[in-house]
Amino acid sequence: MSTTISVAADSSLKSAAIPDRFFQMLQEVWGFSELRDSQGQAVEAALSGRDALVVMPTGGGKSLCYQSPAVYRGGCTIVISPLIALMKDQVDSLHQVGVPAARWDSNASGQEKRELLEQLRQQRIRLFFASPERALQDDFASLFKGNKVPMIAIDEAHCVSQWGHDFRPEYRQLSQLRKHFPEASVMALTATATQKVRDDILQQLQLRSPSISVSSFDRPNLTYRILPQVDVLAQCKEIIDRHKSSSGHSAGGIIYCMRRLDVDQLADSLSQAGYSVVPYHAGLTPQQRHQAQDAFVKEKVQVVVATVAFGMGIDRSNVRFVIHASVPKSMEHYQQETGRAGRDGLRAECTLLFSNRDVHSMRKLLNNSADQSSASKDWLESQLNQLELMVGFCKLPICRHRNIVEYFGQSYSTENCGACDVCLGDLDVVTESKVIAQKILSCVHRMGERFGTNAIIDVLLGSNSRDVQRRGHESLSTFGILKGHTRVELKDWIEQMIHAKLLMVVQDGNYPLLKLGSQAKSVLFGNHIPKLIRTTGASAQESIKPLARFLYDTTLLERLLEWRQEAADQEKVAPYVLLSDTVLAEIAARRPSKIDRLSGVAGMGAKQIAQHGQAIIGMVESHCSLKSIPMDQPLQFPSSPVRDSYGVRFKERKSLEQIASELHVVESTVTKYLVEHILEGSVKDVSAWVSESEIQKVIAAANKVGYGRLIPIYEACNSQIDYNKIKIALAFQPALSPSGQPKGS
Ligand code: ADP
Ligand code: ZN
Repeated sequence: MSTTISVAADSSLKSAAIPDRFFQMLQEVWGFSELRDSQGQAVEAALSGRDALVVMPTGGGKSLCYQSPAVYRGGCTIVISPLIALMKDQVDSLHQVGVPAARWDSNASGQEKRELLEQLRQQRIRLFFASPERALQDDFASLFKGNKVPMIAIDEAHCVSQWGHDFRPEYRQLSQLRKHFPEASVMALTATATQKVRDDILQQLQLRSPSISVSSFDRPNLTYRILPQVDVLAQCKEIIDRHKSSSGHSAGGIIYCMRRLDVDQLADSLSQAGYSVVPYHAGLTPQQRHQAQDAFVKEKVQVVVATVAFGMGIDRSNVRFVIHASVPKSMEHYQQETGRAGRDGLRAECTLLFSNRDVHSMRKLLNNSADQSSASKDWLESQLNQLELMVGFCKLPICRHRNIVEYFGQSYSTENCGACDVCLGDLDVVTESKVIAQKILSCVHRMGERFGTNAIIDVLLGSNSRDVQRRGHESLSTFGILKGHTRVELKDWIEQMIHAKLLMVVQDGNYPLLKLGSQAKSVLFGNHIPKLIRTTGASAQESIKPLARFLYDTTLLERLLEWRQEAADQEKVAPYVLLSDTVLAEIAARRPSKIDRLSGVAGMGAKQIAQHGQAIIGMVESHCSLKSIPMDQPLQFPSSPVRDSYGVRFKERKSLEQIASELHVVESTVTKYLVEHILEGSVKDVSAWVSESEIQKVIAAANKVGYGRLIPIYEACNSQIDYNKIKIALAFQPALSPSGQPKGS
């Protein structure tokens, strides 16, 4: 039994087993010139009729893994999906690129059902989506009479596991489908991160010698920040405002709250302040929930304030921010919920507003629900444990990307992610940490360990509030000893000290009292030097633009977004289904002057070009002539710490191998940056990486076999020039026009 497990590294060689015609189809239909790392492995399995388990984080590109082989192989691939909303989204997207797809809709009229059956009879459908319930009905297999069914794809396969968060008992019976479709291979897809659930999927779905691909769980386009919770409403407003475009166009975002009541209150306050938001939680009627979801997906409303009930079934790809107004239940929840941001690969921001009070409330909620549901002690313990791990994540000044990836058992080699509060330098170690901690501790001690956080802060700040006067606290020797600091800072430090066991909270009835923790003595006596962190949040104040890794024309992007909204309304699809934000951003960067140049934009397939090309080029033209700016621009990449670390090394003409080892990345990653630098003109001499004669050979080969794919070029060079060199040579090739297409072709 052979099981291939690979964590994706470099795909170019792996996909050598995929025929060239496949890539032509991929370019033609979806406008993609290559598969992502682990997509290659999944597609390879599908094309050779092998079972597969595909584990990819949200936004990783799971759909293409089954959709592209389905189109390539013909016949009718069956896709099992747990929610109508998900199916609808997929079918709409497939129609946009001209692939015949359908879903079984039990609410459809008799006439509609007859039409669908007729299409199936004529073998016109490439992908057929159904719920597990429908797939398990007796007559299901007969729907496909006369069709070849090459594959059954099981989306959201973690629903099979009771260890997962969306257990659906019907999923367990899906292995029965095998009996009816003995020829079909099975591909199970999931974003789940836990091994237990993955094992369950393999077993329950009875996958046979499956190819297993697990991609990296890192989401480099997400910026994570943990801020002390100061004023949830004001902090949310600030983030929403920051994501507004210059013309006031809001970006999509989700705000997660702990309880329904918090959702209602925050949604109300935001609405009253003039923001367009909808609430979403399990206490609303199904109809209200449906309306909220629909408004969000169609971009009629930009912000949803929700409990964890909101999420599954939301495929909106251009969510630009996720705010956790309170601490999530577990790292799994955090990863899932933040994962809903930036599925399109453009930048997105995830902010968690941390407060210890929320952690207490969460513990209380868990205890209560354990009491009420007579859940086992083990359950409660494991929940509390997961919450503690989450709190630890928030409190430790370790790169968030690293911490998440390592939490899920993978390794992370980038030293500075450039996309979290820790690496962006938002967290400073306070130089006078020791003295501050000692002052706080002695104040707690002087006050007899009989007061809560606010009363203690009042004293430390020397506040003359009525409570302070009533209690006669002005006379304490610690009165005003931390004057000059802010209330927020002190609150944050006290929370850090609780986490470090310097302080502890003890509940006195309903009143949480602050007491000295087990480690307090060691600080008071100076044996232990604590590290207090100051969160500046400074990096968040900088503009979040650009969205993409490349520079683009923001006003043009706004025009394109407005146009897309109208076009999507007319076609009754979600805007992001019509064309993704990534595609529009690339158009706003390249400003193509001719329709055929649009095929150089990743994600524009032939049908989309035929359908929207004219309108897009028209907008680009009028925009450029109005502003008198040139069209057909190369992609340009702004500087960033990560990019600069490559740039410096390219200037020193270091080898790919050396740079890869210095920056702990694979050589293909170095090549990617080198290609960017060449394309924008900041690297003009490539002789350190590829020789003149190699360039000649590559160009000659490309002229013979075409520029579209690397593999034929590699073969035409007698497999003697490696892929990295080919990429560099092609990027350098002086005959290349700015659009990336060879001149005169
Ligand atoms: P998932 O289902 O894993 O959350 P999707 O299938 O929605 O992810 O894909 C996420 C985004 O990535 C989409 O915008 C999709 O167009 C894009 N994408 C997928 N595969 C590729 C590829 N090979 N090249 C470029 N973009 C891709
Ligand atoms: Zn980081």
